[in-house]
Amino acid sequence: MRIITHTCPACGTVVAANELENKRVMKCPGLGCQEVLRFEDLPEGARAHFLENRNRYQI
Ligand SMILES: [Zn+2]
Repeated sequence: MRIITHTCPACGTVVAANELENKRVMKCPGLGCQEVLRFEDLPEGARAHFLENRNRYQI
């Protein structure tokens, strides 16, 4: 299974796609980072793959 993550463009913190998908919009968990991360920031191919296989990404 492919691991889909998003890397914060401001601080490089890596966030799992399933966490982003749960919240849709979230503040970056990076210490002191104010960047807002969105599920929509993921490349379209990654989003489509995630949504097709989302059951397998639930922990
Ligand atoms: Zn960040």
